[in-house]
Amino acid sequence: MYEHPLSLWSDNKPLHGQNALVVGDAAGITDPLLAEGIRPSMFTGVKAAAAIANAIAGDSSALPEYSSIVHQAWGEEYVWAQRLSGLFFKLPGVAYKVGVKRPTAAQIMSQILCGQTRYTDITDKAIKTLKRSFLPGQG
Ligand SMILES: Cc1cc2nc3c(=O)[nH]c(=O)nc-3n(C[C@H](O)[C@H](O)[C@H](O)COP(=O)(O)OP(=O)(O)OC[C@H]3O[C@@H](n4cnc5c(N)ncnc54)[C@H](O)[C@@H]3O)c2cc1C
Repeated sequence: MYEHPLSLWSDNKPLHGQNALVVGDAAGITDPLLAEGIRPSMFTGVKAAAAIANAIAGDSSALPEYSSIVHQAWGEEYVWAQRLSGLFFKLPGVAYKVGVKRPTAAQIMSQILCGQTRYTDITDKAIKTLKRSFLPGQG
């Protein structure tokens, strides 16, 4: 058995240096709830390539803009994913029943993985559902 740590997103850090960009796992871009890392890594790779091309063409703000693009596209979403994961992984038994066994939950997670639904749209409701299941009368 080997352990393979996941490079989960924790907060928005600068992803650029003077002549460098970080992408994928090096940028800590893995979803803190679902641990999806491939799609966001590809996104950062594509955006980094475009930023490098713009920088070579003389755009001095291209590298800092890369950090902003990634923060807006993923960081803002991951704030919500992190809130949900904080509750989800604290109560694995309840979370499994409410969040994994429910067919609708699986469907929502699939939509997130396909980029069709955003955490922004579902987190409030999901947290209320989780809370209701272990604190009847709440939410
Ligand atoms: C156990 C596990 C399960 C996962 N399951 C999923 C999943 O189901 N779905 C999902 O979306 N994500 C999953 N992930 C996350 C996903 O694998 C990563 O987020 C993604 O592969 C990151 O891509 P990357 O290109 O940044 O890094 P990597 O895919 O790790 O690529 C980095 C490459 O650089 C090479 N390298 C390292 N150092 C050097 C060096 N000095 N010189 C030359 N080459 C070097 C490495 O050998 C590697 O090939 C999983 C991760 C783990 C650990």
